[in-house]
Amino acid sequence: MRGFFESSKVQKDKPEFGFVPKCGACGLYKTCESPKIKPYGQGAKRVLVVGEAPGVEEDEQGRPFVGKSGLFLRSSLKRIGVDLDRDAWTTNALICRPPKNATPDAKQISYCRPNLLNAIRKYEPQVVLTLGRSALVSVLEGYWRDIGALDRWTGWRMPVERHWICPTYHPAYLLRMKDALLDCLFLNHLQAAFELDELPPRQPKWEEGIECLLEDEAACRAIREMEEVGGWMAVDYETTCLKPEWPDGQIISCALSNGRRTIAYLWTVQTSLVTKLLLQSKRSQKISSNLKMEERWTLKTFGHGVTNWGWDTMLAAHCLDNRPGICSLKFQALVRLGVPSFNETTEPYLANVKGSPYNRIDEIYPPALLLYNGMDARLEYKLAMVQMKDMGL
Ligand code: URA
Repeated sequence: MRGFFESSKVQKDKPEFGFVPKCGACGLYKTCESPKIKPYGQGAKRVLVVGEAPGVEEDEQGRPFVGKSGLFLRSSLKRIGVDLDRDAWTTNALICRPPKNATPDAKQISYCRPNLLNAIRKYEPQVVLTLGRSALVSVLEGYWRDIGALDRWTGWRMPVERHWICPTYHPAYLLRMKDALLDCLFLNHLQAAFELDELPPRQPKWEEGIECLLEDEAACRAIREMEEVGGWMAVDYETTCLKPEWPDGQIISCALSNGRRTIAYLWTVQTSLVTKLLLQSKRSQKISSNLKMEERWTLKTFGHGVTNWGWDTMLAAHCLDNRPGICSLKFQALVRLGVPSFNETTEPYLANVKGSPYNRIDEIYPPALLLYNGMDARLEYKLAMVQMKDMGL
């Protein structure tokens, strides 16, 4: 299907940002005492703290975090030697008080988001510390579509572009819960955010250098070269259904990455036979995300499994942190490597056709599919290395 992905890229360099708030559409400025409350603080530690919205006290005084939640936040920070007004800047996902402190809806957050982006542009914080769900939704718009439960996001330090995003709970939630464990986690999250003293490392453009090999001959040569080099090797298949047991299921493409080189190629008689040798080779230790998928497809295709499995990024993610909803490559790529969700364009083609076990990946424009496949393998390799380091290996 030509045209798909041609003008866009698999990895967006930057989500598209608008810097003009839609106050006319939101209208909250009409119902509050202090419309459009400005960010506050001196930001000595270059941390921008983002809350949900002004409450009644904030609305009266025209300053963020001066009510009960603010007090709780201030006293928690004091315990780790941080003064909110001196060391941070504060703002909110909504800068006008919603009537009756109603939880902001997605539209309001989106309309007000340019105010937050402007604050980030103005202050250039090293850390953006988000308190609660609304702040996180605002900060991650364009990077991740469905935030889901807040629990899986708290405590990560995400190296997103030129700052760290550090999500934690909202103080009002902690005041309601009165849970010593949550309070302790909150304190840990604050400490982890405030102790960051460097900008995130500059990330590579992950797509760059991925070799999308459409010709069999070039692909076979590259697979042989990768086999000869050996070492840690991420292996990733794209298939027309999840389970190889379905009779019409097929592998459509494969990608390999050893960190220095990433290749992606279409699965044909020739490329599959050369890949078979690599999969049986003891020279490389294989990495996958959910290795039983690649293992079962290999078994179905060749009648043997993969020799020398070395790492599964999903299992490792679970060993390092057993919260639900965190093990997928896409989630890990964002929270550990700062790579925004890169499957939004492919997603409709990866989903099963209604009532059928099969997807439509064979309709994706082949170079785009290979780039997507190559990204998976490249990120699997990188993630595996980060995980090994974390585990002290
Ligand atoms: N005060 C704020 O300014 N924001 C919040 O989210 C809560 C209290």
